[in-house]
Amino acid sequence: MRFEVGVASDIGRVREGNEDSYLVQPPLYAVADGMGGARGGEVASNLALSTIDQLSRDGKGTLADQVRQANRAVYERSVADASVSGMGTTLTAVQAEGADIRLVHVGDSRAYLLRAGAFRQLTKDHTLVARMVKAGEITQSEADVHPHRNVLTRVLGTEANVKVDEDSIPLLDGDRVLLCSDGLTSMVAEEQVRAILESEPDPQRASERLIKAANRAGGVDNITVLIVDAHGEEGDEATRGAVGGPRWGRWIAGALAAIVILVGAFFAFRAYVDRQWYVGVADEHVAVFRGLPARPLGISLSNVDTTTDITARDAEALQLYVSLPEGIAAESRDDAFAIVDQIRKDVEAAAPKPPKSRGSGSGGSGNGGGGG
Ligand code: MN
Repeated sequence: MRFEVGVASDIGRVREGNEDSYLVQPPLYAVADGMGGARGGEVASNLALSTIDQLSRDGKGTLADQVRQANRAVYERSVADASVSGMGTTLTAVQAEGADIRLVHVGDSRAYLLRAGAFRQLTKDHTLVARMVKAGEITQSEADVHPHRNVLTRVLGTEANVKVDEDSIPLLDGDRVLLCSDGLTSMVAEEQVRAILESEPDPQRASERLIKAANRAGGVDNITVLIVDAHGEEGDEATRGAVGGPRWGRWIAGALAAIVILVGAFFAFRAYVDRQWYVGVADEHVAVFRGLPARPLGISLSNVDTTTDITARDAEALQLYVSLPEGIAAESRDDAFAIVDQIRKDVEAAAPKPPKSRGSGSGGSGNGGGGG
């Protein structure tokens, strides 16, 4: 899986500083919205993200463990430094893990998933109004405009320990994940966020358009938008586990198995062929071959081992050896040479050679010589 990222953060039109922070450290992406007097909020969101960034680079613990460590780091700084006392931050992060995306969340920043036209919030706000909606005390539309809508029920760094929401979702080709601070969602209706995400394919331009929309609506808070687009067409490691991954994986495994079987069969056959011997014709002479005389698909399965001085014409002239060009099978190399010796004797016996004085082998060669 390949990721294309767009990110933008803006102070908004009311606040005097930007206390939001974001982290783009592939495959880790995060947004944090700090709060606290003076520079507290900025310190908290920065410290939280730099902590998970460092722990992630060091490969220490799970993403949720890293968030708990970040909580501890912010809390300890808050306790140790009076100028940032009571500071805290939200933290919403995603991390690509093979075919999945790991999600961790504390606070009211949000993660959304746009997948094949469907848009849904992946996180639950840790706010008082969300709790009231869940309890049926107010409706969602009442919550959206509630005067205490930004009161958090859970935040990073204000206590020694924090409960971290965790989730893991399978990532598909074409998925678009949006991480944002509440400066976006408190200003821009979800339907409008969705419309911008759907109409702008470039993640950077989409991020900037969302910031603009929030500022046009008032920009009362800092706004941070981080968009991660997943593309599954690249053949890198993560892709194998992704959408098309299992299919490709199975196909590749099947092809490899077939290749292993074919290679195994080839070597077994090759070993078998190498144990075969025959006597045939090479360069118009009787020769001993290693292999098989057959030529399937025109492929030679044999090599000449020894070419003799017996001409093929002389041997083929004998009825017994007319099939010599097709090969006379032997059980071994020795057996092949025994056949050659027999051919030589038969050819000599048939040949009218006056100097040949001794006829001791006449009985043995009789059957061959009879025809000539
Ligand atoms: Mn905010």
